Amino acid sequence: MTEIQDYTKAMEILAEYPTRDGLHVDSLLDSDSHGALTYNDFLILPGSINFPASDVSLDTKVTRRFTIKAPLLSSPMDTVTGHNMAIHMALLGGLGIIHNNCPADEQADMVRKVKRYENGFILDPIVLSPTATVEDAKQLKVKWGFGGFPVTENGNLHSKLLGIVTNRDIQFHDKPQDSVTTVMSTDLVTAPAGTTLAEANNVLRSSKKGKLPIVDKDGLLISLLSRSDLMKNIHYPLASKLDSKQLICAAAISTHEVDKIRLQKLVDAGLDIVVVDSSQGNSMYQIAMIKYIKQQFPQIDVIAGNIVTREQAAALIAAGADGLRIGMGSGSACITQEVMAVGRPQAAAVRSVCSFAARFGVPCIADGGVQNLGHIVKGLALGASTVMMGGLLAGTTESPGEYFVSKEGQLVKAYRGMGSIAVMEDKGQSKEGNAGVSRYFSENDKVKVAQGVAGSVIDRGSVTKFLPYLVTGIQHSLQDIGVRNLDSLRDGVERGIVRFEMRSGSAQAEGNVNGLHTHEKKLYA
Ligand code: GDP
Ligand code: 5GP
Repeated sequence: MTEIQDYTKAMEILAEYPTRDGLHVDSLLDSDSHGALTYNDFLILPGSINFPASDVSLDTKVTRRFTIKAPLLSSPMDTVTGHNMAIHMALLGGLGIIHNNCPADEQADMVRKVKRYENGFILDPIVLSPTATVEDAKQLKVKWGFGGFPVTENGNLHSKLLGIVTNRDIQFHDKPQDSVTTVMSTDLVTAPAGTTLAEANNVLRSSKKGKLPIVDKDGLLISLLSRSDLMKNIHYPLASKLDSKQLICAAAISTHEVDKIRLQKLVDAGLDIVVVDSSQGNSMYQIAMIKYIKQQFPQIDVIAGNIVTREQAAALIAAGADGLRIGMGSGSACITQEVMAVGRPQAAAVRSVCSFAARFGVPCIADGGVQNLGHIVKGLALGASTVMMGGLLAGTTESPGEYFVSKEGQLVKAYRGMGSIAVMEDKGQSKEGNAGVSRYFSENDKVKVAQGVAGSVIDRGSVTKFLPYLVTGIQHSLQDIGVRNLDSLRDGVERGIVRFEMRSGSAQAEGNVNGLHTHEKKLYA
């Protein structure tokens, strides 16, 4: 039989049994009949596989204007996302939200590092003047992590190019006070203004040089190209980039008035997306901040939150939010539901807010409570465009902080809730432009009420291994469900083609490893 005949025959058989197996998402999440659910309480039923997993596209929107290739975000927490995590999340197709528990200048420096990490044409390269010393060049290398600096007549762009100082020129030069002109290379290959990026990359390839300065007809420096960017392009095909080839950068601020100064610094450093970080997003402070940002910085997209209800969503959408962050009390280091009696099970919150926000074209983030790959797929199936993780990424090499050995002899890293006493007591705040983290409306009170705990998480290796595992895993999962991309997943769920089943406590136990005497849980190789 042909494939078509097979399919027709299957349809004829099914036609005799008109009741579809499994539940429509609305019946699954009907809290009137069985209470609110979270990720572990249900499964997605398999569909039919007729394409390879590698065909599955995970392109998705983070905000109204920004699209990325992997639906994975890292939380703005001081044990999760600094510049290193933000760079690697973006290189691997996701996005890291840089935390704000630090002085504004420090956070702006992190933004700058992300924006400078990868480029097409570097339009504002660091340039040296002939009076700069070898020591100056070495200091700049330490600060920025790169060591190729053009030298121009007056030390600025749009001035005559004299040479380039490279790493090799300064590395072993033992007279730090020598002028850079004594060590710089002057046999330069350059390209003229007007050269396209593709043409310039070809010149870089054939010249075998590390840098390609672009100069105008008078020999004035216009911009710079770096060979290492060509390599990054090849190694990170999913990277979250703009047309400029720079990585997309997102960072968090609080709703405090003083953080308007912080935001200005972040925008000056090149920020693309701002996350207004609050545990209860539907506040007059947040609404005022969103309106301010939309008016003052129309080029920046704003993610608002956190929220768990449609009513909260409506207020933030009306204020101008370009994205919403969903979750209250479901985070792994979080005790909000216990102490505030407020919050919502995550699956219920994600479905409710996403189905509402979809009508306004506002993408949503399912934030928190993700303990495994399956939870990510469930968040996406319930309508989220992306999923945000804290605890799952805190144990990776790229998160801030050092590994240490726990009492039990395991390699671990610190992970702490941003509403933990540890963070509230540790926050660098009060200076101008520096509210620091201020998520829980309790940080400045005499009696601080914690909404999070401080602890540790086990070593997960590098995100350069972990994220590709998550991406490939999601592709396989969507293949099992029978959808080729995230739009089809959401559409299939809405139309009742992708179906669900609740699972009892014993079904959950059955779904985990059971009955083995011992086992080792190795997740990827
Ligand atoms: P270098 O040889 O020490 O300059 O370093 P690499 O060539 O390995 O890396 C330079 C990286 O830094 C590239 O990804 C550049 O896009 C990036 N970068 C960002 N801003 C600048 C800049 O002002 N000058 C240089 N040289 N590189 C920059
Ligand atoms: P995880 O991925 O660890 O389950 O959750 C991360 C999310 O937990 C963060 O993105 C943030 O929304 C939330 N979160 C971080 N710190 C705290 C905290 O101290 N209390 C509460 N309630 N939530 C937190």
